[in-house]
Amino acid sequence: LKLNSQNLSKLKNVTVPTYQRKNVKQGIVHVGVGGFHRAHLAVYVDTLLEQFNVKDWSICGVDLLPFASPMRDALRKQDNLYTAIECATEGSSARVIGSITDYLFAPENCEAVIAKMAHPDTHIVSMTVTESGYYVNENTHELMYDHPDIAADLAGEMPGRTVFGYLYAAMVRRYEAGLRPFTVMSCDNMQKNGDISRKMLLEFAQRKNPEVATWIAENGAFPNSMVDRITPRTHDDDKVKLADQFGVEDAWPVVTETFSQWVLEDKFVDGRPPFEKAGVQVVPNTHKVEEYELIKLRLLNASHSAMGYAGYLGGFKYIHEVISDPIFRQYIFNMMQEEVKPLLPEIPGVSVDDYCNTLIGRFSNPTLKDELPRICLGGSGKIPQFIMPSIAEQIQAGGPLRRLTLCAAAWFRYLRGIDENGQAFKLDDPMAEELQAVAREGGLSLLQVKSLFGDDLRNDKRFVAELTKALESLESEGARATVAKYT
Ligand code: NAD
Repeated sequence: LKLNSQNLSKLKNVTVPTYQRKNVKQGIVHVGVGGFHRAHLAVYVDTLLEQFNVKDWSICGVDLLPFASPMRDALRKQDNLYTAIECATEGSSARVIGSITDYLFAPENCEAVIAKMAHPDTHIVSMTVTESGYYVNENTHELMYDHPDIAADLAGEMPGRTVFGYLYAAMVRRYEAGLRPFTVMSCDNMQKNGDISRKMLLEFAQRKNPEVATWIAENGAFPNSMVDRITPRTHDDDKVKLADQFGVEDAWPVVTETFSQWVLEDKFVDGRPPFEKAGVQVVPNTHKVEEYELIKLRLLNASHSAMGYAGYLGGFKYIHEVISDPIFRQYIFNMMQEEVKPLLPEIPGVSVDDYCNTLIGRFSNPTLKDELPRICLGGSGKIPQFIMPSIAEQIQAGGPLRRLTLCAAAWFRYLRGIDENGQAFKLDDPMAEELQAVAREGGLSLLQVKSLFGDDLRNDKRFVAELTKALESLESEGARATVAKYT
């Protein structure tokens, strides 16, 4: 059966929403209706609507970039419904999610997006726009003012190209209308995602109108959060399986694991849903989020990067294949235990050893076909977040850093865009062109990219020596043999 409102009650074998979707107000506008949003925030909200009779908090999805038009088309023809397929080693289950009750596509109607964000019923604008959607210069930690997208939005070109152009335009309307700002809730994988959103939006606003910037700074809220649920890209065979196993014809289901975690700072300026009822760990301050965040980014995401680049070069296709290779498994386990764990905070009730073991189990799930190109994309936003901070801290501490450094070296090698068999592949990274050109110069040239690496790394002799050694080994012996030396 085709997935749409009319067919909902006829679907068997899947959980469906039974709340009256039309009667729920859209208190949240979410920018970036990708896989992760549809497996995470939208699922938590669906739980609230279904089980806790929440009335004001459904989601209006928004996409900003023209390339997102397939999502618009998929959602539109099925009344913004979609299926979340939860994959476990023991078997899968399927649940239709109804919490996205409207969807706006900015390239065809940017005014509607700004008006929706500015509407008094909107209390939260959340976002998953990927790390590169924040336009942070990693060297200065400022907004990339010279980036053509930011420059266009600062010049007021429409439709806007960045989330900050839209957030700012909507904030101005609320300011002029005497409303409160909405809470800006980043759900992207970045340390201090709320603080970064705040800083970038304020820098943007400062250039446009300092008065509005001050108003946002004094009245706005930007909660930090740690988000976790592995969500691979959806493939055609996922759709076929959904139709065969569960009888649902869905243009774009989302595939995810059973595990889900969200640690959210309780900092909202215009109300929030009772997220804790749906299992969200709502915590009182940034410090608490940071502790969980460090553990997650430096273990899960760093391991993903360490498996991704070296694994891709070594000829693997999926994460579960990489972690099933005893050499990679040992390398990842030892990197976590020996190089990352000593840097992590202790949280009462949280065992980092258990966390590492659970991670290995999650990575090993063969039903979650998580492809390495997804893990490898956008490295310019990931490596400076997930790997380099641990290296920088180990430099300071005089501690071990060779396995982490191998991950950076594998990324450098990967950025050449040529695999170990001499086959060219396409890099998926907003800085692809620049980084590929520099990577092909060879050696340590990439370290000179100032927007990615700080002087603390560039000038450290021990790190530079380790990096050189790892690069040489990748070159002469290949990825798998090199990883074997680093277990
Ligand atoms: P996706 O490719 O499915 O979706 C990306 C979304 O971001 C799309 O809606 C796209 O239109 C939008 N987008 C991309 N670049 C943008 C930009 N510059 N400005 C505005 N919008 C932009 O990817 P996903 O799996 O949904 O991941 C999105 C983000 O979610 C990740 O970058 C990460 O920060 C976070 N996340 C993902 C996972 C996961 O396992 N997939 C887990 C935790 C966190």
